[in-house]
Amino acid sequence: MQKCEICRTSFTWKQVSKSLWLAYKPIACQNCGKLYKVQFLSRILASLLVIGPIFAFNLLSYPTSTQTFILAVLIIIPVNSLMLPYLMRYRLA
Ligand SMILES: [Zn+2]
Repeated sequence: MQKCEICRTSFTWKQVSKSLWLAYKPIACQNCGKLYKVQFLSRILASLLVIGPIFAFNLLSYPTSTQTFILAVLIIIPVNSLMLPYLMRYRLA
């Protein structure tokens, strides 16, 4: 997990995941209050990680039934929500 550049306090998984769900809301360091914004590349990465596997799944399991598609989404979204906070990078606002 990324650390605050000023005081080296780690962001928590909860902080980052909350920021993701609130459309990349900036994060304030819990210790010193410095504000961090999501890096542009992290936003692209996040979108790719959500759309990419769904798209790949569609190609691989063609013709896709609605049930298997929904199942894939139900697996991909929670896995991504767990993993993404570890991959996101923030910069000082
Ligand atoms: Zn800090």
